[in-house]
Amino acid sequence: MNKMGFGFLRLPVTDPKIPDSYDTELLNRMVDYFLEHGGRYFDTAYTYLNGKSEWALGECLVKRHPRDRFILADKLPGYLVTSQEDCRNYFEEQLKRCHVSYFDVYLLHWLNGRNYELAEKYHEFEFLQELKTSGKAGRIGFSYHDTADLLDRILTRHPEVDYVQLQINYLDWESEAIQARRCYQTACKHHKKVIVMEPLKGGTLARIPADAERLLHTLDPIHSAASYGLRFVQSLPEAEIVLSGMNSMEQMIDNMRDVEPVSDAEKAVLWKTADLLRHSTAVTCTACGYCLQHCPQDIPIPSYFKLYNEYSRNPGDDWKIRPAYQELAANYEYASACVRCRSCEKNCPQNIPVTHYLEKVAGVFE
Ligand code: SF4
Ligand code: SF4
Repeated sequence: MNKMGFGFLRLPVTDPKIPDSYDTELLNRMVDYFLEHGGRYFDTAYTYLNGKSEWALGECLVKRHPRDRFILADKLPGYLVTSQEDCRNYFEEQLKRCHVSYFDVYLLHWLNGRNYELAEKYHEFEFLQELKTSGKAGRIGFSYHDTADLLDRILTRHPEVDYVQLQINYLDWESEAIQARRCYQTACKHHKKVIVMEPLKGGTLARIPADAERLLHTLDPIHSAASYGLRFVQSLPEAEIVLSGMNSMEQMIDNMRDVEPVSDAEKAVLWKTADLLRHSTAVTCTACGYCLQHCPQDIPIPSYFKLYNEYSRNPGDDWKIRPAYQELAANYEYASACVRCRSCEKNCPQNIPVTHYLEKVAGVFE
């Protein structure tokens, strides 16, 4: 059983300070390895890496491999649409960026309450259906970040969709904010196949604190923390694809191993691990970067939260963490430069009270 999809939201970079400086040579090798080991599904979106994600797919995948060798999924930025004409313009631009004439899977990107209203207003579901009918999109659906109740209403109104892309991982399975289990069950109730995103919660389940790692090692000291996170979601029967954003060859090799479904005994340990993680992760940021597109102050929000999480786990290490903060602040803006416009919070799929935590970041590091 391996349902892995290669997500192009986070890529290997040549300069860690520039998230869209992707490493073409390494990415070529990773794409080749993925295909050689049975992977087929690639995922991107208009806004990923300021558009460079689609270009990267065009260069590293489409121009180098036969079109029928892979499944390419892209997403309409419906939340940027201000007229029906926009839908077609974005779609045509995406085809050009990726060097393709059709997408195998085409989704509305990032539906939540507000974006769903826009999708209805600008007839975005009808647009996707037209693409499917004309052969420009093989299968259609949407990626989703909101409650299970709203998902139920959307799927009742739009039974034509094939896929729902959901944030699912063992840490969010019972989360009230993310509602991973309830959203998954809602999709199943409507007989939709599920594409899983954030199976490792932006790396949170790959780099876990020592006490959580010791707990997982009681199961098996060899396998990585990431492998348990991926096996958990791969075991869900209606999860057809599990997307992973991989940025090194080691991660690629680890992720592409054949996996067994998680047993009940392993699940019991994962629930305990989730408890430990909940208590040791101050900010549950997945580093998706959506907030960055809306910050007028150029504050590197996810990087600051990463440092703050490190500090919260090991307050005695602040002498090591503070210089990293100062270096970031010298290149961007200090956390205290936040003007509390809250654009970031409106656009955070994890519902993180960004301004609250930036105050804490400033309090600790400035
Ligand atoms: S509230 Fe602060 S961090 Fe958020 S977008 Fe506004 S200035 Fe940026
Ligand atoms: S704060 Fe929210 S939007 Fe910003 S990177 Fe983290 S999870 Fe994504």
